[in-house]
Amino acid sequence: MLGRALAWTRPGRRDWHDGDERFARMTLVVLLGAPGAGKGTQAAVLRDRLGIPHIATGDLFRAAVRDATPVGLEARAYMDAGRLVPDGVTIRLLEERLGRPDAARGALLDGFPRTVVQAKALDAFLAGRGDRVAAALLIDVPAEDLVERLSGRWICRAAGHPYHLPMNPPRVPGVCDIDGSALIQRDDDKPETIRARLASQLADLNAVIEHYRSTGALRTVDGRQSIGEVSAGLLGAIEAIDAGAAGRA
Ligand code: AMP
Repeated sequence: MLGRALAWTRPGRRDWHDGDERFARMTLVVLLGAPGAGKGTQAAVLRDRLGIPHIATGDLFRAAVRDATPVGLEARAYMDAGRLVPDGVTIRLLEERLGRPDAARGALLDGFPRTVVQAKALDAFLAGRGDRVAAALLIDVPAEDLVERLSGRWICRAAGHPYHLPMNPPRVPGVCDIDGSALIQRDDDKPETIRARLASQLADLNAVIEHYRSTGALRTVDGRQSIGEVSAGLLGAIEAIDAGAAGRA
């Protein structure tokens, strides 16, 4: 299945689906990682290499809120409170998105599933099409590294110009390059706040990881490596599944 998606990105290899495209199977890749693990960056790389759309439920919800759709109106209060939107509406939103033509050959899911109920609903949805999750790719970063990454954000008092320590520091420590005002840290970005928020997010993530470990779809890549090394690791994991599937065919 993955072979077809990868072959699809190679010149001259567009022949993987015989017959009616409506019956072509999907290549469904799930990208897993805690906030700050680098999922967004890697999603862009994988989308281009696999030639399938990147579907982030957070983006779908933000668009629904912006357009004031019924889903948006329902989701808004949860999003504003930093809580998960209930599974029922989230699953409906995702299934509707997967039913659109551009996702007929597959998709790279980002931010879904966030709960085991969602993971099982996705399995059932795909099983209904004679398919399954091809790979659940985990970008693994230890919790304390995440706290360090997420708490690096500082902004200037005068205008909110953003900095990140150590990735994008100001020229003079504690002072904004642009307007010279002092740098401050929002309560939301302080290590203790981040640690508390992460604890509940990691509990949900770990349950989803265990789900994919039990189905055999889980592949883990060390997210402490450079961006290029993580990309290579993720693509390598997909190639390995692909080779295994070809070997069994
Ligand atoms: P994100 O951009 O992934 O951080 O998502 C932004 C917000 O959308 C989250 O804080 C949740 O309120 C909601 N959301 C996104 N994906 C899901 C999901 N799979 N399940 C429940 N809520 C979600």
